[in-house]
Amino acid sequence: MKKLIPLLLLLSSCNTSPGLGNNIQSDFIPYVNQFEADSMATKGYPTPFAGLTIRFAYPGELTGEIDGQCQYSSWTIAIQSSYWSQMDAIQRKTLIYHELGHCVLGRVHTSATFPIQGAYTPTGGPNTAYSSIMNPYSLVYEPYFTQNETNYLKEYFQTP
Ligand SMILES: [Zn+2]
Repeated sequence: MKKLIPLLLLLSSCNTSPGLGNNIQSDFIPYVNQFEADSMATKGYPTPFAGLTIRFAYPGELTGEIDGQCQYSSWTIAIQSSYWSQMDAIQRKTLIYHELGHCVLGRVHTSATFPIQGAYTPTGGPNTAYSSIMNPYSLVYEPYFTQNETNYLKEYFQTP
């Protein structure tokens, strides 16, 4: 049994996504696959990227309330596991997309909002919600994202 442990750890931590030469930890592969599918559906062609690493952050690597970070110098996305473990699938998707937005799409932050009547407002003004996955707080809270996913994805993939 003990001999199996290193192999299992290797398999669970070193899976490779469809992109050439990527090193994506297995937790993040479903979201990278969604990114590729959404890129095809929204733009009509894939967003190429190769050599990208996505992994959980090392202890002490991300401080404060940072849940994820695109590190341009090493082309690595580091994700804070303590936040990740508390997130639902939509929050995880918007976090990974946010960091892919920086690293792969070259996007910067935008605090643009759109009005939603009667909406719960985590950070925006009255009846507003962030209209971009690239808002500075990373996460798009439900039900905004699900209700407006088509618009979010258009904004996300089609903004130069
Ligand atoms: Zn950001």
